[in-house]
Amino acid sequence: MSAVVTGKNLIAGRWHSTNGDRFESRSPSRQSEVIGVFPTGSPEDAKRVVAAARDAFPAWRRSSRIHRAELFDNLAQIVKREADNLAQLMARECGKVIGECRAEVIEGLHMIQYVFGTGRWPVGDVLASEIAEKDAFMRRKPWGVVAVITPWNFPFAVPLWMLGPSLIEGNTVAFKPSEDTPAIGQRLTEMFEEAGFPAGVVNLVHGGGETGEALVRDADVNVVLFTGSYDVGHRIQQLSAEHYDRIVACEMGSKSAVIVCADARLDLAVNCALISGFKTSGQRCVSAGRILVAESLFDQFAEKLVAAAKRLHIGDPLDAGNFTGPVIHRGAVEKVEHYNALAKQEGATVLLDGGRLSGVEHSNGCYLSPFVYRMAHRPDARVLHEEVFGPHLALIPFKNNEDAVRIYNDTPYGLSMAVVTEDYRAMRLFRDECEYGMGYVNLPCIGAEVHLPFGGVKKSGNGHPSAAGLIETVTHKTAWTVNHGTEVKMAQGLTTEIEGNSAQ
Ligand code: NAD
Repeated sequence: MSAVVTGKNLIAGRWHSTNGDRFESRSPSRQSEVIGVFPTGSPEDAKRVVAAARDAFPAWRRSSRIHRAELFDNLAQIVKREADNLAQLMARECGKVIGECRAEVIEGLHMIQYVFGTGRWPVGDVLASEIAEKDAFMRRKPWGVVAVITPWNFPFAVPLWMLGPSLIEGNTVAFKPSEDTPAIGQRLTEMFEEAGFPAGVVNLVHGGGETGEALVRDADVNVVLFTGSYDVGHRIQQLSAEHYDRIVACEMGSKSAVIVCADARLDLAVNCALISGFKTSGQRCVSAGRILVAESLFDQFAEKLVAAAKRLHIGDPLDAGNFTGPVIHRGAVEKVEHYNALAKQEGATVLLDGGRLSGVEHSNGCYLSPFVYRMAHRPDARVLHEEVFGPHLALIPFKNNEDAVRIYNDTPYGLSMAVVTEDYRAMRLFRDECEYGMGYVNLPCIGAEVHLPFGGVKKSGNGHPSAAGLIETVTHKTAWTVNHGTEVKMAQGLTTEIEGNSAQ
């Protein structure tokens, strides 16, 4: 049994425990296992981390970009050294299977490496001017203090998607990890400290929604980078509207889908559907809640998918032989059970009845088996429109590809879409007509890479793709114009003569 983590906030380079409220992080696979005990950040703590980030900003912005990049190189070495420990801690704290945790550590490392690589890139453009004597530039500048508020399901990579671009560009950060994965958030912050990032550049405050909201309410925060559910993202956008120069990037939920066309390779399609629906127990933002299947292929596809879903190994996340682990907590178990029951009420034909797993291996954890049902698309069926965030999968028949586009688009979300087909005309139709941020062909609808845009439309995102794409969001573009002549000459033929004053 590993030692229980002592949670602390990091404010201006000093670690603080608390005399106030605390909360526990418990393992979803063994509810009796306490991973750590953490301080619940008060509104004053939130103010302190923002103030610390503000104080550190001028010196950090002035530091050499290449120096900042080299600190990320230090961080990369530490992450490589710690990769196994990080993956183990993550598997224990959030219940993802160890192979997925290792992949997430690598994804975080890729973000660090990407950011390091940008250290010697241009920070703007040299542009033409109408006036021959003028040099004109676009130069990106950091905004200032960035609040980073992250979800539990990618507790290492998602914070790095935000911290990396923010810091390399010269911003400072107030970071609040999810209350479900505070130990990973704290470990990541410790590694920034070890890598040599100066005091106050990365500050950490633990806590739940109230702590996050205190960060958002602080007028001294210039940018909020948020990833999580739509309801919270919407609230953050509403609160931020009070602040006239606030930038808010929200990556939120989805009702993502795989579309299996009539000409799909059957085994490939089943594989894509299983990975999209049940990897991470359906708890990725991009997890498929829906598989749209051409009517002519439906019965064959459903039979194969259900047979394979029955064989999936669900158990201890530290056992590399398991396909997936538990869901995050008891509340998630209850939410999925609620949607399974709702599907039945709304007229689903259940093909595989899922629910709590109760064997010896599962008795102390939040384990659920896959729930699969057939349902014709209906605009009024809540289960076909709302995010469940668990192993709950609708198989929806469609008549033709235009019909599939219409069904796919009929949700309030637009994050990820995969199409399984051999037909290049069909690919193009789905590429152009479906509403999504990430599209895949003959692949699952999960599988991000840090240098590709990661974001969605509608209720899934507000147009600031995460990871590498955030470099644009955490900076503002300035025009810098220099006159090398000895008189004032203006663009658009604007006259410059002033009576009684020489232009020279
Ligand atoms: P959540 O929305 O419950 O919490 C996310 C973060 O917001 C946590 O740190 C939480 O403490 C904080 N928070 C809660 N209320 C707040 C408030 N009023 N003000 C400020 N902060 C507040 O999400 P979760 O359960 O941790 O994660 C699951 C959700 O995240 C799913 O909807 C999933 O689709 C989504 N998600 C989206 C992406 C993406 O990139 N689109 C990636 C991962 C997860």
